[in-house]
Amino acid sequence: VTVLKAHFKEISLSTSKRLDLVDITEEVSSFVQECKIESGICLVTSLHSTSAIVVNEHESGLMEDILRKVREEFPRGAGWHHDRVDDNADAHLASVFLGHSKTFPVRDGRLERGMWQNIFFLELDGPRTRRVLFEVMGV
Ligand code: ZN
Repeated sequence: VTVLKAHFKEISLSTSKRLDLVDITEEVSSFVQECKIESGICLVTSLHSTSAIVVNEHESGLMEDILRKVREEFPRGAGWHHDRVDDNADAHLASVFLGHSKTFPVRDGRLERGMWQNIFFLELDGPRTRRVLFEVMGV
């Protein structure tokens, strides 16, 4: 009989701009190692509808490019219906298309990721304090 183990952790982070990228790779990676799960998966989920979790290289130019692309694809105040509620339809839309969570393999007790695959919380309607959940499941 194989017993599946599960551990979760919730972190709180502060963003400093309306659009912002916060690198959470180290938090995710250390939590996975603390869990002592040899083989399984790690889910990283944002608990908000105006944010996303994205994975890519931590290079300042690229990070600016990502924010620029978000601005270009999801322009603010472009006549969105939801803007009549709280003026942040662009942030909700970007979240829908970019996704609120990402999943990673856990192998040999470690988070499996490529050398240039950092994990970012993408703020789409900041600055705010945000909650992100990590869930590691496996054996
Ligand atoms: Zn809204």
